[in-house]
Amino acid sequence: SVPVLTIDGPSGAGKGAVSAIVAERLGWHLLDSGAVYRAVALAALDRRVDPEDDLALVSLCENLDLQFQSSEDGIAVLLEGRPVDERLRSEAVSVMASRVASRPAVRRALLGLQQQFRRPPGLVADGRDMGTVVFPDAPVKVFLDASVEERARRRHKQLKEKGESVKFSRLFHDLAERDRRDRERAVSPTVPAPDAAVIDSTELTLEQVVERILDLAAE
Ligand code: C5P
Repeated sequence: SVPVLTIDGPSGAGKGAVSAIVAERLGWHLLDSGAVYRAVALAALDRRVDPEDDLALVSLCENLDLQFQSSEDGIAVLLEGRPVDERLRSEAVSVMASRVASRPAVRRALLGLQQQFRRPPGLVADGRDMGTVVFPDAPVKVFLDASVEERARRRHKQLKEKGESVKFSRLFHDLAERDRRDRERAVSPTVPAPDAAVIDSTELTLEQVVERILDLAAE
């Protein structure tokens, strides 16, 4: 069957950047599952769907017109044919995404959609439950972690580069809180699959993390 390399972990551990580079080096497809949940959240906000209305949410998921388009500067996300990258990363969408992602009906409705990304020659799947739920038979699984301090530092730097000033203490607090919710939620908690290699990136560079993962993929 088509190989899958899953890369799960908490927010801010560097999964996005790492997954994109690893997929590029292997020449494999990339699934950014966080973007799938964010797209559902955006569609729900646009249509004023109540985040507790499972029936309406499932219908949104089943009719989701979502495309990932690769270009020179990465992958653009299109919802109903329109680029939505900027809006997907807004705070309102982040909050809504974590609410819809906690609904088992939504997670079930998105299972098939995510599994369809598994196409030759291979797939790099980035998320929270790629190795535990969506691709439990993946031959290579990685759980990418980093200390809360380091993840908050990285995010702080990113935001500063974008010209947004957010207090470090606030970022740290929000990240720790979101971690706790993700780890302790009843459905698909963010925990390593039993057969995942745990990589702590706190003291590693992006390139070092990529090298370790490519080594695992080559085994
Ligand atoms: O990774 P990202 O921040 O884009 O994820 C957005 C939201 O979707 C987060 O709240 C996360 O918990 C959720 N998510 C999820 N399962 C995934 C990917 C993301 O529950 N596989």
